[in-house]
Formats: sequence, C-alpha cells, structure tokens
Amino acid sequence: MYGLFWELSQQRRIWEAEMAAGDAKADARYANSRAIELERAVETLVMINMAMAKLLHERGVFSEQELETKVREIDLSDGKLDGKVRLDPKPCPQCKRIVAARRARCLYCGASMYDARP
Ligand SMILES: [Zn+2]
Repeated sequence: MYGLFWELSQQRRIWEAEMAAGDAKADARYANSRAIELERAVETLVMINMAMAKLLHERGVFSEQELETKVREIDLSDGKLDGKVRLDPKPCPQCKRIVAARRARCLYCGASMYDARP
C-alpha cells in the first residue's frame, strides 16, 4: 500500500516537472522571438536615424561634429558618459502626476508630456 502511494506521488512529481519544463521552454521561445523583434526594431530605428542625420547634414542643418557634440551632451545629461540616457519619471505639465519619461502623453489626463511653453 505504501509502495503504491509512493509510486503515485513520484508519478505526480514527474508530471509536474515535465509541465514546468514545458512552460520554461515556451517562455524561452517567447523571449527569444521578442528579442529578435526588438533587434529588428532597433535596426530600423538606427537606419532611420542615420538617414535623417545624413539628410540634415547634406542640407547644411548641422555638421557631423555638431551631431557628435549633441549626442555627447545628451549622453552626459544623466551625469554619465555611457552611451545611455536614463530618463527619470517626471510630473505631467497639466495634472502634475508622475509619468514615465518615455510616454508622449500623460497616462492619467492625456495631456502632452512636452511642455508647450518655451
Ligand atoms: Zn496629466
């Protein structure tokens, strides 16, 4: 009797482990496909940025040196020259609630996060 109970409990453990392994495999596949999608999106953004920079440079809007200086200035805006920009959450210009800096519109009232005032 005890042997049967032990056997059933072992079978259940095996089944649970197989389910968990299946879930982990599905999660890994999903994460991998998201990484590929993001990689493609980044490549597209890089290409668009390069095209815009080239056009603006060709039209004499700014030189490559000015672009590099501006990139460095923006990189340093968070206090670190590390090729990254850390955007801190900021208050909505209208309702003053704190909103993630990457948002173009306030999550709460829908106002533009870019202050129209000069
Ligand atoms: Zn708001």
